[in-house]
Amino acid sequence: MRDLTYFDNNATTRPLDEVVEAMLPFMRDQYANPSSVHQFGQSVRHAVECARTQVAASIGADAKEIIFTSSGTESIQLAIRGALAFRKPRNSVIVSAVEHSAVGKMTAQLAREGFEIIEIGVDHEGLLDYGELEDRLSEDTALVSMMWANNETGAIFDVERIARMTESRGVPLHLDAVQAIGKTNVCVSDLPVQFLSMSAHKFHGPKGVGALYVKRRTRIAPVILGSQEMQRRGGTENVAGIVGMGVAADHASQHITEDGKQIAELRDRLERSLCDRIDLAKVNAANAPRIPNTTNIGFRGLQAEALLLLLSESGVCASAGAACSSGSLEPSHVLQAMGVDPEYAHGSLRFSLSRFTTDEQVDRVVELMPTLINRLAALGTR
Ligand code: PLP
Repeated sequence: MRDLTYFDNNATTRPLDEVVEAMLPFMRDQYANPSSVHQFGQSVRHAVECARTQVAASIGADAKEIIFTSSGTESIQLAIRGALAFRKPRNSVIVSAVEHSAVGKMTAQLAREGFEIIEIGVDHEGLLDYGELEDRLSEDTALVSMMWANNETGAIFDVERIARMTESRGVPLHLDAVQAIGKTNVCVSDLPVQFLSMSAHKFHGPKGVGALYVKRRTRIAPVILGSQEMQRRGGTENVAGIVGMGVAADHASQHITEDGKQIAELRDRLERSLCDRIDLAKVNAANAPRIPNTTNIGFRGLQAEALLLLLSESGVCASAGAACSSGSLEPSHVLQAMGVDPEYAHGSLRFSLSRFTTDEQVDRVVELMPTLINRLAALGTR
């Protein structure tokens, strides 16, 4: 599996060796419950608290402001539900049109419960309509939830601008920073944001562990009741996962600049070479500020699914950012919101890189793609 050509790092990343090493003792000998009062339990508690400090430090927060969860999804839904518990009499929630389904499924449920959900549009580059956000903030706004970096295109929202707007209107803000951590500098100390979600497996940590930052003195109601995590998230902690997340967060913040530079160079070369060789290719969100590891390329007239299968047969993992429903491919809601021509949207592929991506892997995809596209053309599946 090590020489797999893996370009699906926005789905998940390979855990660092040091992450796995740090986790192993807590899956074997250090198995005590961190809530136990005996010394064995307290030594495990110590490891959890060290990880909390590492995660907090990586985003400029205080350890007391971090709640561990089981995923980015849980972190997001805890923020939204937990904040809305104190909303009354306000009843409207503002999100963008390009949120991840972890937000989208929750707002769909909130709509069924009687909340007003307002979706702010994006432009052709995937960037938020900030004027519309300004206009739609009102006395009735209970919460604004926005993503920091888009998982499909990599486009980065101007979160500082969003935060200044919500702050001036006294509206709590949640940021989904799941794709931002480790890829762009995330620092909450100088940002008026109340909630921020992160997920370890997106930055070379383990799956099944996430965290929610809750700014000091911000009220949040638990979704899972229990005594753990300062009574804000019940359930015995995933100790090994939390320890792994701490190491991954530490590593991500220390290597962000050099990794980002190296990854951006590879991403830009991949993008340029594919566009040079394939005239049907066009980069989505090409002119937006983007996280360095993501490119989303539309191939006009092509079926993304068919191309993904051929890539997979050749040992290349990429992604389509499209959902397959009842046999027909729906173009992604993100590309639709951006107004991407359906001819391109249906044939859009996401290549997401990481610190483990090599020059050779980029060369391999660049060589392979024109051949695969010709094969599809010959089969008449374009
Ligand atoms: N938010 C964004 C922007 C994501 O890309 C993802 C995962 O793809 C999530 C939230 C959900 O994170 P998790 O897989 O940890 O539940």
